[in-house]
Amino acid sequence: MNNSKSVKQPALQTTLVHLDQSSGFSDKVASMPAAGNHTAVDHSVLFAYERTSDLEQVFQGKAVGHVYSRSSSPTISALESALTRLEHAASACVFATGMAAIQSLCFALLKQGDHIVVSEFLFGNTRSFFQTLAGFGVNVSYVDVTNASLVNDAFCSNTRMVFCETIANPVTQVADIQHIGKHCRERGILFVVDATMTPQPVFKAAKYPIDMLMVSLTKYVGGHGNALGGALIDFETFDFSRYPNIAQAFRTKPAYAQGMVQVRKKGLRDCGGTLSPDAAARIFSGVETLALRVERQCETAFALVKYLQQRPEVDKVFYPGCTEHPQHALATSLFNQGFGAIFSIELAPSYDYRVWLDALKLILVSTHLGDTRTLGLPVASTIFYENGEDQRAAMGITDGLIRFSVGLESANDLIDDLASAFDQLEKN
Ligand SMILES: *Cc1c(COP(=O)(O)O)cnc(C)c1O
Repeated sequence: MNNSKSVKQPALQTTLVHLDQSSGFSDKVASMPAAGNHTAVDHSVLFAYERTSDLEQVFQGKAVGHVYSRSSSPTISALESALTRLEHAASACVFATGMAAIQSLCFALLKQGDHIVVSEFLFGNTRSFFQTLAGFGVNVSYVDVTNASLVNDAFCSNTRMVFCETIANPVTQVADIQHIGKHCRERGILFVVDATMTPQPVFKAAKYPIDMLMVSLTKYVGGHGNALGGALIDFETFDFSRYPNIAQAFRTKPAYAQGMVQVRKKGLRDCGGTLSPDAAARIFSGVETLALRVERQCETAFALVKYLQQRPEVDKVFYPGCTEHPQHALATSLFNQGFGAIFSIELAPSYDYRVWLDALKLILVSTHLGDTRTLGLPVASTIFYENGEDQRAAMGITDGLIRFSVGLESANDLIDDLASAFDQLEKN
């Protein structure tokens, strides 16, 4: 099928819906599949128009349509609509990876001299990005986000954004989302939450004072370890008319939509971290089974935690579902149907975690999380190796800490696997 033909099909004709209050592609976009159909994967880079004036309207933002797939295309828009509905949000923009989403957000909305407050317990790569951003003249404060008043204390007159994760990994600190959000609303500061670790139905972001969600689609949403992707999801709760960094060209958009318009334009268009249509289609399949998988994964994670807690070889277990977890009450108030499917443990010092991990047969020793398969990883020597000893200590990461991401295997099979690895450990 050649491009000039594909664009004359109904899908694109009906995408020429006039923009009213919406900032981007809404449910009106005809690229949503009819009930029962799977989303077509449209690889076209260009989109031709029969009438020149239609193309001009789209370029000028006066009509919705696709012109060049770095900025938008039908499969991508379909995924964005699905994510918007999943989160009861106003709009979504997807990216090649979670990191591309974070980068696009920050490059689009921050300027040299701005100040941001971020969690001190960030995903390692996100922390690394904020260090890069500091090199461009953005001032970054790292704060303990389990305590909302520490976040409030860190605010300055030029604070533009707060960024934290719902549950941090590997130590599973839980951010006080409700109160941080309240402080942000009082001060007119954009509040962005990385909810990768707590997908629907665990965390219902729309119920909290959050302005934008960031999600690595690579993890639970895609869920099968076969596609990278990221998303920014906007609730249109932040009034950008008072935000200094919006370009004049986007001031014509509704005040609450200007941020996401600029993320799309300056982030996606200028930075080019576009999700591929193939990856979007795979992630789309993941959306359909997300709730089932996540409920099962949370349940199995708790079963493994309970098993490990009573093993004499295990010194510590970090999981927000445990009553002794420092933010257990907070986690109970924020999350539904479970406490996520990530937990970490420390073996007693006399045991060699490498011997134990090597003896696992069903559980894979691998980085990544949110997969169908259960994964175990020593974190200090791998994903947090580059951070160095001092930073690891500040984040609560000890040398023997092992992170588990629980998959879809049966809990009994997983417990058997852990048990036989413990038998190996005793023999050593
Ligand atoms: C994986 C991850 C990211 C980055 O996502 P990628 O899709 O791997 O780029 C960001 N935040 C959290 C919490 C993650 O787990």
